[in-house]
Amino acid sequence: MSPSNCALVLFSGGQDSTTCLAWALSRYDRVETIGFDYGQRHAIELSMRPSLLAKLRALSTDWKTRLGEDHMIDLSVLGKISDTALTRDVAITMQDNGLPNTFVPGRNLLFMTVAATVAYRRGLDVLVGGMCQTDFSGYPDCRNDTMQALQTALNLGMAKNFAIETPLMWIDKAATWRLARELGGDALIELIRTDTHTCYLGERGALHEWGHGCGTCPACELRARGYAQFIQE
Ligand code: ZN
Repeated sequence: MSPSNCALVLFSGGQDSTTCLAWALSRYDRVETIGFDYGQRHAIELSMRPSLLAKLRALSTDWKTRLGEDHMIDLSVLGKISDTALTRDVAITMQDNGLPNTFVPGRNLLFMTVAATVAYRRGLDVLVGGMCQTDFSGYPDCRNDTMQALQTALNLGMAKNFAIETPLMWIDKAATWRLARELGGDALIELIRTDTHTCYLGERGALHEWGHGCGTCPACELRARGYAQFIQE
């Protein structure tokens, strides 16, 4: 097995990271997952992870063979040092700088850096993240340029040759659903629809056509709109 055939997927338990995990399982011989508890209000997404992993294993024998260890990392310090609508009980609003207050400064930079530290120890050479610049909230740490620069910084700083892969970077939410269907058929679509969590407020609530959630926060709106487009195709 070549080293570059081993990947670590940033797996939160949401739609995007679950699609990224299926993407990695279809490509790499060994895949491990990493999740971060940073004091997010929607920590419920983390509780979805174990059953999602079990159900992904049940979808395909190949995936079952390839899917290895899961790493849960305590990054509660991030929640303590940041003041955002994802880490404090405040309303979601647009800030003067043009970014919503759901932006957690440094979050993806920290996640990728910690992921690289774990990948270093585990001998994994590809880091997979669900960052997306196409249909996003304007978060600067989701940009392709940011991830490219971070890849360079990590490789310089750790004397490694990590590749950061972001399969969703240039596709919109409807295409993310489409990609999931290509990777795992209707069974994967149904698993993502019913078992992943996206809602910023951490509401599970009723099962809508597009999944669980409050239905009105920006994350639910994006997910619902993408699903509506996807099923009309
Ligand atoms: Zn919501």
